[in-house]
Amino acid sequence: MTQPPREAVARPKVSFEFFPPKSEEMEERLWDSISRLEPMDPAFVSVTYGAGGSTRDRTHRTVRRIVKETGLKPAAHLTCVCATKDEINEVIRDYWDAGVRHIVALRGDPPEGIGETYQPYPGGYINAADLAGGIKTIGDFEISVGCYPEKHPESPTWDYDLDLLKQKIDNGATRAITQFFFDPEVFFRYRERAVKAGIDIPIVPGIMLQPNFKGLTRMASMCGASIPSWMDELYEGLDEDVKTREMVTANIAANLCTELARGGVDQFHFYTLNRAELALSTCRLLGVKPREMEPA
Ligand code: FAD
Repeated sequence: MTQPPREAVARPKVSFEFFPPKSEEMEERLWDSISRLEPMDPAFVSVTYGAGGSTRDRTHRTVRRIVKETGLKPAAHLTCVCATKDEINEVIRDYWDAGVRHIVALRGDPPEGIGETYQPYPGGYINAADLAGGIKTIGDFEISVGCYPEKHPESPTWDYDLDLLKQKIDNGATRAITQFFFDPEVFFRYRERAVKAGIDIPIVPGIMLQPNFKGLTRMASMCGASIPSWMDELYEGLDEDVKTREMVTANIAANLCTELARGGVDQFHFYTLNRAELALSTCRLLGVKPREMEPA
């Protein structure tokens, strides 16, 4: 039996998020993943900044090594938490000097934990929009920001939430990457609201590739992302079966991306958790192959 020909559609753009490794073993896994994902020709790869700025040095080291040792364009995440403007500005200048030209500007979560009231650090940037403005005064960085298809849990209304996204754009953001979600309709409704509010920068879906369903459920409840009940059923009884969970995760991600692509989405940001396999298989199912395998 032959496969039906794939519809001739433009290759979607992809990007990958990594976190800075804590140990030598994790470092090896990260670099193995980076080298396996590089041939997919991502638009950029981003490196997260630990809660409370805890990974400042590790994030910096990882981003610098990407600049030096790969042909990839790194984006460094940066938050406002627990640092003065002067301290953050120094980090931004260090990035500029290291050849980094893209920052994902974020407010961050309260150091006491998600759910506590966020208090801007004395003398610090108050939120992501404020930080984006500060970054632009230091260098002409490309700036991406976070956005929330199910509304940020601290935003009282949609108008308030989208107004904050508009402020980030006014201060220099040119791309918004979403919090993870699993229902394509959640994304489409959000995109419609954003367009109605006059938001015209690309809104790139953040696709979560977390096969640890218990961990994912915990994370989702903290950050206000919903998990559809059909996912509970899919993962039921798989706690001890890592391989099957991974295959289920790849399928969920591929189906979500396919639905999003049908709805006109042509850019995807993958939360890789530093593992190449799930991101690679999702890309394949989306029709994204290593560049050298594609017709010239
Ligand atoms: P903002 O958009 O600045 O604000 C979030 C909410 O806070 C607003 O919607 C509003 O309700 C409230 N708020 C903001 N400013 C004010 C104000 N002046 N007055 C009253 N209320 C206000 N976290 C990390 O620690 N490290 C990371 O690397 C990281 N990467 C992320 C990547 C993406 C793509 C996303 C979506 C999130 C990421 N986060 C990261 C999590 C992020 O820090 C949290 O979601 C945080 O709660 C909000 O950050 P923000 O940049 O969206 O904040």
